[in-house]
Amino acid sequence: MPDFKAPLRDLRFVLHEVFDAPALWARLPALADSVDADTADAILEEAAKVTSQLIAPLNRSGDEEGAQWHAGRVTTPSGFKQAYATYIEGGWVGLSGNAGFGGMGMPKMLAVQFEEMLYGANSSFALYSALSSGACLALDAHASETLKNLYLPPMYEGRWAGSMCLTEAHAGTDLGLIRTRAEPQADGSYQITGSKMFITGGDQDLTENIVHLVLAKLPDAPAGPKGISLFVVPKVLVNPDGSLGAANAVGCGSIEHKMGIKASATCVMNFDGASGWLVGEENKGLAAMFTMMNYERLSIGIQGIGCAEASYQSAVAYARERLQSRSPTGAMAPGKVADPIIVHPDVRRMLLTMKAMTEGGRAFASYVGQQLDLAKFSDDIGERESAQDLVALLTPVAKAFFTDTGLESCIHGQQVFGGHGYIREWGQEQLVRDVRIAQIYEGTNGIQALDLLGRKVLADKGLALRQFTGEIRRFAARPDAPYATQLLDAVQRLEDISDWLQDRAATNRNEVGAASVEYLHLFGYVAYAWLWARMAQVAGQKRSEDDSFYGAKIATADFYIHRLLPRILSLEQSIRAGSASLYGLSAEQF
Ligand SMILES: Cc1cc2nc3c(=O)[nH]c(=O)nc-3n(C[C@H](O)[C@H](O)[C@H](O)COP(=O)(O)OP(=O)(O)OC[C@H]3O[C@@H](n4cnc5c(N)ncnc54)[C@H](O)[C@@H]3O)c2cc1C
Repeated sequence: MPDFKAPLRDLRFVLHEVFDAPALWARLPALADSVDADTADAILEEAAKVTSQLIAPLNRSGDEEGAQWHAGRVTTPSGFKQAYATYIEGGWVGLSGNAGFGGMGMPKMLAVQFEEMLYGANSSFALYSALSSGACLALDAHASETLKNLYLPPMYEGRWAGSMCLTEAHAGTDLGLIRTRAEPQADGSYQITGSKMFITGGDQDLTENIVHLVLAKLPDAPAGPKGISLFVVPKVLVNPDGSLGAANAVGCGSIEHKMGIKASATCVMNFDGASGWLVGEENKGLAAMFTMMNYERLSIGIQGIGCAEASYQSAVAYARERLQSRSPTGAMAPGKVADPIIVHPDVRRMLLTMKAMTEGGRAFASYVGQQLDLAKFSDDIGERESAQDLVALLTPVAKAFFTDTGLESCIHGQQVFGGHGYIREWGQEQLVRDVRIAQIYEGTNGIQALDLLGRKVLADKGLALRQFTGEIRRFAARPDAPYATQLLDAVQRLEDISDWLQDRAATNRNEVGAASVEYLHLFGYVAYAWLWARMAQVAGQKRSEDDSFYGAKIATADFYIHRLLPRILSLEQSIRAGSASLYGLSAEQF
């Protein structure tokens, strides 16, 4: 199995050449003094070392050994503890965290690139800190100063981890059904009682403490999602001076045996009258939790890109070496018994699909990162708000499209290996198993699609959508924009189908759910077309500097525009067929 190598050159291309991130940072007062092109490069280089040399080597052994549960305690696979200790010394958990509480205050654009490397190296390992970073964000945005001062510094340091406790056996997508209760206590704390399942990193042996963010209901809470509150519930109680006290009444009942991410502990968590503290306002917990969930949604999307990149790296190496049959146009390696399979059109189709989707996703993730930076750091309120609107619109696309195409890419990677992709030795089957969960957790991709079409496009009357398509149109209008005709056609189709759905949904709400997954994919393909056109435009200007690198960008853009973008035609037709055929069968007839 080839070693995972962080794709530094490609990451830098996106950061510096496509988005010119350092120019943006220079004009944002909160970032101007803390980060520039050199700092960013140094961070990415160090990140590449940590992920490729420290964390990637534990990916296979972690999968084989898995997380273990014994007598209420979880142990992570061999090597995880030592690697985690080294990892946190680098401050990676708090990379884009609030510097006022010990985070490094770096831009999100850098953090998304780091996360891609981390997931590409080892998805299970990545999850232990991904949840911590998200929990910190929710606490920073909604908790009292006292809670922030107590919890954030050790969490950013990585000495304590975070978890996200939403799901219960009978309440997954529909969190309004949760039964975990919170009883107010005289001292202002709450007693939390209930059982949560599928909690990633609910227990582990990597950190001194685990800070659970738990959704629960107060005794007089209204029914449904409007009656949910958010609590911080530490595994070990925290004294007012920040030192650790007695164990809280929180236990890990068991861990799940599952298809992939086997080194990540997926826990049943029991809260037996545990002490908790309210985060934000009573009954407004779901909104507060969304700060964490939105962070995690982008992060989990990036899991799709990271796994696809790892799969691509091995598939290319294999396709160059594996000798089978001759090229249809005559022998390419006449001195060998057969040609390497990279000569065959179908193998090239698979590799290019992987490359085009992974690099398109990488650019899209950085674009969302850029909007998150603007939403957080711009001193122009109009710019902040419009960036926030774009983030809200694009987050469900990022989560679902990155992971749907991430699985598609990993399956292509496996297919390039033929039968050798199905066996353990080459690592492709693990990537297929590991990436699959990303379509399910953090809200299934079906739910992301409903969020995009129902809430972010239709309920918004297409305002944020027009903001996004306006940006694409402005790019296509530039005299040097490549693929302007295809881009304008694609963006027109996205706008037209959105308007058509607005009308249809007014008379039949089933039209939204019937169209939503295809709509999200259509949206994703159009967005990637814009990003590929941008990448091709930059590459065109620089081709003479490095024909191999920039020429490959241009050729991949060409492949994307001519071979992948046309998928929107069938998606559009399918959407226009409407919901009627979905209701042709009664439940008994299935
Ligand atoms: C490995 C793993 C790790 C996880 N980590 C965490 C964690 O850290 N914290 C946490 O709280 N949870 C976690 N989860 C739970 C995960 O987020 C849920 O499994 C997921 O949100 C779906 O919920 P569910 O499994 O109950 O499926 P259900 O909600 O029962 O959904 C079943 C199917 O019905 C569809 N569906 C449901 N409602 C609708 C609707 N209104 N419209 C259309 N389709 C619908 C869904 O899309 C899905 O296809 C994890 C799960 C796994 C497997």
